[in-house]
Amino acid sequence: MEIMGVNITDAVAHKEPYRKFVEQLSGWYGGGEMPELASQDLRFALELQRQKINSLGLDMQCELKKTAANNSNTVGITFSDRVFTNSIVSGNVNMTRSIGIKQDQMYKDTNEIGLTAVIQNLKGDTQPNPSMPLCCPHCGAASTLGELEDGCEYCGTKFVMSELYPKVSNFFITRHEDRAEKSKKNKRQLATFMAACIIPMVLIPCIVFHDQIIARIAVGIITGGIIGSIMFGFKKLFETFALMGKTARGGSKTISTLYRLNKIKKYDPEFSGEYFRDKAIALFRMAVYSKDASELACCKCLCPEKAAEIIEADIYNLNVNSCEISGDVCDVQTTLFLDCLHYRKGKIVLKCDKFCMSMRKRLKKPTELGFSMRAVSCHSCGASFDAHNVKDCPYCHTPYELEDDDWVITDMW
Ligand SMILES: [Zn+2]
Ligand SMILES: [Zn+2]
Repeated sequence: MEIMGVNITDAVAHKEPYRKFVEQLSGWYGGGEMPELASQDLRFALELQRQKINSLGLDMQCELKKTAANNSNTVGITFSDRVFTNSIVSGNVNMTRSIGIKQDQMYKDTNEIGLTAVIQNLKGDTQPNPSMPLCCPHCGAASTLGELEDGCEYCGTKFVMSELYPKVSNFFITRHEDRAEKSKKNKRQLATFMAACIIPMVLIPCIVFHDQIIARIAVGIITGGIIGSIMFGFKKLFETFALMGKTARGGSKTISTLYRLNKIKKYDPEFSGEYFRDKAIALFRMAVYSKDASELACCKCLCPEKAAEIIEADIYNLNVNSCEISGDVCDVQTTLFLDCLHYRKGKIVLKCDKFCMSMRKRLKKPTELGFSMRAVSCHSCGASFDAHNVKDCPYCHTPYELEDDDWVITDMW
């Protein structure tokens, strides 16, 4: 089904890969193996995160379990290019996260969270070109689709299409308040408000006047109840406004963000806001988790000092402040609104963060959802190689610029 250019797809098809991914991710955060469904770039980010956590002497465990109540709450929005479709699939998961140093637990929380995975699959019956660069899912070597189908040059493993896709290219965690707890709290508050109004409304007339006691009590209960619930309503209304300011971090710029991103769509019709947000957080995570961001091909700057203490980053919202296209070079300046776990002075704190990030790409090549910097093809000699931390083709030594193929970070503050 297509609504205003956005495909709303049947969630059932994604249910199984989603369930598996949650299981694999839980295993990974429990000290286990890399999620098999994770794309190469997501694997890279997860590896960097584990290295960072370990280098700080910390141990992070994160157990994810499907909630008992909701089993069919996955919905999908899909965006696609010529070869792939990416579906944004969400569900509710119980997450228990504990962080500590060796046996010493410093932080533990259990929450019902929203876990969103970006699941990539082949578009319909599309057969991608055998020369498409792709990493070997077994040994990680840079290769091509055709080579992997014939057997990986390095480890010899042969793959069929169904083993290569679907893949999860990214995931996000969103926190929400416990609804049952909230409704209990509301009922308690309403009762308190009503009692606070009914008691004086009954007592005062009874003390002042000495006749028609029963009628006065009845009137007191009714008017007190009405005034109490009106006051409760005002309180809730005020809270909603206060909460809107808090939850809508970056929400006021949604329209201008969409307008600016739409400029890119004129050059590249397959570009989309969802894709860009996904890319921005993926790049941010890689830069922040890595020991030296400037060594990465996807980052042309240093990380701000305040990012050094971040051990986990999740995106809440993205604002695009400017988008300038000159020639085929597109420079976008963004603000990322994030929920991050910080390790500061021996303590773990969950913080709302704001970072500015400049991103650049050359628009001459359209969006490639299947692109991975772990397997790029040299523009000069055509060889496949892993570009995550190289600046030249290892075969013909032609300088390689990742921004010719994908978005890179040019500045962060
Ligand atoms: Zn291999
Ligand atoms: Zn080359």
